Amino acid sequence: MKKMIMTPGPTYIHEDVRKAMACEITNPDLDHDFYEFYRDTCNQVKDLLHTKNDVLMLAGEGILGLEASCASLVEEGDRVLCIDNGIFGHGFGDFLQMYGGDVVYFEAEYTSDIEVEALEGFLKEDHDFKLATLVHCETPSGITNPVDKICKLLKSYGILTVVDSVSAIGGEPLNVDEWGIDIVLGGSQKCLSAAPGLTFLSVSQDAWAMMNNRKTPVRGYYCNLSKWQSWYEDKWFPYTQSISEIYGFRKAVERVNTKGDYIERHKKIGQAVRKSLLEGGLKLYPTSGHSNTVTTMMVPENIAFKSLYDTMLDDHGIMIAGAFSHLKDKVLRIGHMGENCYEEKLFITLKALDKTIRKHGFDLKVELHKSFANHLD
Ligand SMILES: *Cc1c(COP(=O)(O)O)cnc(C)c1O
Repeated sequence: MKKMIMTPGPTYIHEDVRKAMACEITNPDLDHDFYEFYRDTCNQVKDLLHTKNDVLMLAGEGILGLEASCASLVEEGDRVLCIDNGIFGHGFGDFLQMYGGDVVYFEAEYTSDIEVEALEGFLKEDHDFKLATLVHCETPSGITNPVDKICKLLKSYGILTVVDSVSAIGGEPLNVDEWGIDIVLGGSQKCLSAAPGLTFLSVSQDAWAMMNNRKTPVRGYYCNLSKWQSWYEDKWFPYTQSISEIYGFRKAVERVNTKGDYIERHKKIGQAVRKSLLEGGLKLYPTSGHSNTVTTMMVPENIAFKSLYDTMLDDHGIMIAGAFSHLKDKVLRIGHMGENCYEEKLFITLKALDKTIRKHGFDLKVELHKSFANHLD
C-alpha cells in the first residue's frame, strides 16, 4: 500500500520538486552560473522571510543551522538566555552550553505559548545577556510562540535574537526585519516540503558584527558561519554544495512564494482540525498558542498510542506521529504542513482517525472528517 505521510515533517514532496532534484548537475565550486543560481535562491528565501539580511543555505538538517548559530556567536563564559517552553526550546540550551555559554533559562509552562508579560517582568530584573534563543513552533507539543512580540522586547534590551523556526517557516507569519530577528533558521523538510538535508538561515548585520568581534576563534569549521561572509564576491564556498538538494529546494520555495496563500491556508486548516477533534470529545495538548502547522492531541485514556499508530498505518496507509521525551505515548500528532496542508488530505486523515479511534473503543461524539469539513468555511 502507498503510504500517506502526515507527520510534522518530513512532508510530501511535490513531483516538480522531485524532478528538479534529478536535473543534471555541474561543478558547484567552479561553475559561476551556480553561484548566480545559489544567490537567486537565497533571494527567494529572503522574500519568504521578509528580510534584507543575508541568507545562507547549508548542507545539513535544521539542527546544523541551530548548532552553527550557537558555535558562531557564543564564546566561553558568555551570559546567554534560553527561552524554554518545550523540548526544542530547552534543547537549544544544550547547544549554547556545548560552546561555552553560561546559560540562564527562562522556564515557562510547556502546555502554553510564552507569556510576553512574564518575560517582560523577568527581563526588568535581569537583561545582561549577549543573546537569546527561542523556538517559533514547538513541534512536539504543537505550540507557536509570539515571536514578533518576544523579539521586539529582547531587542529593546539590546539582546541579539536567534530563532528556530524550522517547523513554522512557510506555515506561520514570519517578518524577520519588522520583528528584528538577528538569526532565523529553517529546514527543508517541514512546511517548505523539500527533501530533508538542508538548513537555511538569515543573518543580520549585528550578528555578523558579533562574529567578527569575537575574542576567541570559532571552535570548528563546518559550523563556522563567518566562513560564508564573502562567498559570492570571492566565488568560493567553504565546501562543495549539495547541488541536487538545492535544485529541489529552489523549486519548493518558488512554489510557496508564487502561491502566496500559505498563511491563510494553514490557519484555516489548523483551526478546522482542532475544532473537529474537540467536537469529537478529544483533548488537545496545548491550552493556548495552538500551532497551525501541527496539531498535538492527547491519546484517549485506556488506549495505547502504538495501537492507534499501527491501525492508522495498517488499515488506512496513513502515517501519523507520536512525540518523544515526556510526551512519549501520551500524545498523537498530525502534521498539516506545506504540501500536506490541503483540505482533501486532512479529510482523508481524519476519516481514518475517526474509524481508528472508534475501533479501539472510544465513542466519538461526531464524525471527525464531517466536523472538519463543516469548520472549513
Ligand atoms: C524538525 C525540527 C528541527 C530539526 O530537528 P530533527 O529532529 O532533526 O528533524 C529543529 N527544530 C524544530 C523546532 C523542529 O521542528
